[in-house]
Amino acid sequence: MIVQPKIRGFVCITAHPTGCTANVAEQIAYAKAHALPEGTGPKRVLVVGASTGYGLSSRVTATFSSGADTLGVYFERPGANGRTASAGYYNSRAFCEAAEAAGKRAIDVNGDAFSAEIKAQTIEKAQELGGPFDLFVYSLASPRRIDSTDGQTYKACLKPIGAVYQNQTLDTDKGEVKEVSIDPATEEDVHQTCKVMGGEDWEAWTEALLDVDLLAPAAVNVAYSYIGPKVTWPIYRNGTIGRAKEHLEETAGRITNLMQEKGSGKALVSVNKAVVTQASSAIPVVPLYLCMLFRIMKENGTHEGCIEQIVRLFRERLYADGELATDEEGRIRIDDWEMAPEVQEKIIELWPQMTTENLASLTDYDSYQSEFLKLFGFGRDDVDYETDVEV
Ligand code: NAD
Repeated sequence: MIVQPKIRGFVCITAHPTGCTANVAEQIAYAKAHALPEGTGPKRVLVVGASTGYGLSSRVTATFSSGADTLGVYFERPGANGRTASAGYYNSRAFCEAAEAAGKRAIDVNGDAFSAEIKAQTIEKAQELGGPFDLFVYSLASPRRIDSTDGQTYKACLKPIGAVYQNQTLDTDKGEVKEVSIDPATEEDVHQTCKVMGGEDWEAWTEALLDVDLLAPAAVNVAYSYIGPKVTWPIYRNGTIGRAKEHLEETAGRITNLMQEKGSGKALVSVNKAVVTQASSAIPVVPLYLCMLFRIMKENGTHEGCIEQIVRLFRERLYADGELATDEEGRIRIDDWEMAPEVQEKIIELWPQMTTENLASLTDYDSYQSEFLKLFGFGRDDVDYETDVEV
């Protein structure tokens, strides 16, 4: 079948298998070229949210920079009845084939990570790896969660708290800069967003692993967070999703205590930089910020995508010599280059000047668009999109 992108708002409902495979191969090449020093990295790794974005790059880095066997948990749609699979499905297949070709184990669990059933299935399959995990990466991004303890469905939302938020945003379909106005969240919205994107499920995973001794002594247990620039604080860090991230960050302390009771190890939060992923393209205002950030960080020579961030996280933070550098709240800041004063000052200067007319000249909108298409395996020069592919 000939596969073309079909974009609906901020998602693409098709994915290209050859393009996704090429994306994964590119990440693998980068990870291999930036291997960790022998004997420093993890060897048995669990990644929850392993099929796209930061989770996929974590899995690639674990295997190809550090020689680890991995178990990846994700929720992806296989192809059926002339419909393509989701990008994460193709990514995971490509990853597993490459890992196995390199002599590394790669086990997949495709299903709802919030459920007790998938946690049990993961634990059962983990036995095949022959020992406990020395790294657990929690990288879920989901709009909803069915809580297996009460059977209720919780929905995350992206809303400000306390006041209406008005700002400019980017209509990524039309390339238009326009005003957006978002009503404030209710207490219930905040509660539900914390249930989905807070730390509760990360803690449940850790408990489940500790119960069956699947976390090695001195294991590293890391979840990802985001802070970002002041222009997005009302909708991000000070909004519903920010509350959930605060909850996640607070949970790290409780999880470390649980791990210490069982032996040793530590739960950490890494604050990562803004990148184009399926999750971030859904957040109002963020795509416009990303277009600016691309331009500024490319000019500075500090531009990074998921794989560059995660390789740096492993090499210069998690598995570096000496004491782990964190901020006052104990968080790893691999968003340091994004938050550098010279980058953020430029954002503050450009932000009020933005219009549809100067979008192309003041930002790197083209890169944003091509990164977005690339998430689904499209827009690559090395793929012939007119050729029939098996989906
Ligand atoms: P993403 O959308 O690319 O990936 C989400 C992953 O979660 C996928 O593997 C998906 O299959 C999996 N998933 C979703 N629901 C699931 C479910 N019910 N069961 C099993 N798997 C499920 O997201 P991302 O942007 O890489 O985000 C990952 C983490 O990184 C999030 O915590 C996010 O807040 C954080 N983060 C993202 C950015 C960014 O700019 N994208 C920046 C900093 C931190």
